[in-house]
Amino acid sequence: MEKLRIFIDMDGVLANFDKAKQSHPNFEKKGFRPDLTLDFSKFEPMPGALEAVKKLGDMGHDLFIATTPPWNHPDAWGQKRHWVENHLPQLKRKMFLTHRKDLLIGDVLIDDSIYRGQRDFRGTFIRFNPNNGVGWDFCVKTIVGMEESHNKKWIDGRSENDPVTIWNNKKNN
Ligand SMILES: [Mg+2]
Repeated sequence: MEKLRIFIDMDGVLANFDKAKQSHPNFEKKGFRPDLTLDFSKFEPMPGALEAVKKLGDMGHDLFIATTPPWNHPDAWGQKRHWVENHLPQLKRKMFLTHRKDLLIGDVLIDDSIYRGQRDFRGTFIRFNPNNGVGWDFCVKTIVGMEESHNKKWIDGRSENDPVTIWNNKKNN
């Protein structure tokens, strides 16, 4: 089995941003900006995330975090580092802070967003969405099933017609 370089997003994939947002006393107040308010070191891990990262690491894959910290909340940058230290110490010093995920060079990107260049990532992009069957179990199964010279894919957990649509990335055809 080929060892893959895998980039993993934080908010909504490793760390439960939404739960922290919804638990905040100002959640329903006008003008509440969770991205500028929350303590990113305090987020709970997403269900299954820590176990999945351990499993993928034990398989020998090269794992990295790729996260876009809020530009106008610089404390969040350090808070994210503390989150990693607390929950996934095996990924310390393996963290990319970037607003351009298309520039990352690797085999797999697991991310719930498409607004930071994810669709132009040159490897397989798995758009994480546990509500639609594309959660951590799906990610691990997909990675386990990858052939040595795997096709580049785009897996969209939010596609309206078919929750798990897989097609070749046009750039690689
Ligand atoms: Mg995210």
